Amino acid sequence: MPRNRKPDEKRLIARIAPERRHDFSRRLRAWFARTQRDLPWRRTRDPYRVLVSELMLQQTQVDRVIGFYERFVARFPTLEAVAAAPAAQVREAWSGLGYYARSRNLHSLAERVVSEGSPARLPETPEALRALPGIGPYTAGAVASFAFEKRAALIDTNVERVLRRVFAPSLAPKTPRTHRLLWALAEELLPRTGKATWTHNQALMELGALVCTARVAHCERCPVRSGCATGRKHPSAKVPSRTTEVRRRT
Ligand code: SF4
Repeated sequence: MPRNRKPDEKRLIARIAPERRHDFSRRLRAWFARTQRDLPWRRTRDPYRVLVSELMLQQTQVDRVIGFYERFVARFPTLEAVAAAPAAQVREAWSGLGYYARSRNLHSLAERVVSEGSPARLPETPEALRALPGIGPYTAGAVASFAFEKRAALIDTNVERVLRRVFAPSLAPKTPRTHRLLWALAEELLPRTGKATWTHNQALMELGALVCTARVAHCERCPVRSGCATGRKHPSAKVPSRTTEVRRRT
């Protein structure tokens, strides 16, 4: 549930008519239904597999992750299997993907969850997920939404860029205030059901990865252009980003 809003968050949300918010999500989901990439973690609601995919996707391109993900879940098919293995073996299966703190965190998380009950179950809410090792606000929202189909918001660098360009292009990119304001907006944009939220969140990330990218905004083929404050000002197409943004997930 949305927390109490700060005044600047309320002002931002109040400036965007409910019809415009609904239209944005509706167009986004319709586009995703037509064009989505077939990715292995989109075919499952297994919380453990969703978690592994989200950890691997931090700072790492999708194409690179697919092979690592499939090999990893074949070798460690459950949270229990991760917890039962020495940390060095989990690290070895992660080898080549980089950012090895992620494998250490996964191992610690698995040990914690397995020690708390059998069968081992990941918690379902973002708040409870955030109490686990290595789980920040983005990953908590992603697991709650993608595994449990909760109405949970999420913002990574791609989503933040899309929401800023569409609804608030005057906000400075990549500042803590912008991040906070856009989280509040992301919560307001969620559809009514968890199932539709799954699609909405996946579609937002897909749009940021394929259409409204850090380097170029491909407005000419964007499904939400009619309601986008940036795209409407640039009818002939490509909007260069102010900076080159590095993918970040927390
Ligand atoms: S219209 Fe352009 S700037 Fe707006 S979301 Fe689409 S690609 Fe991004």
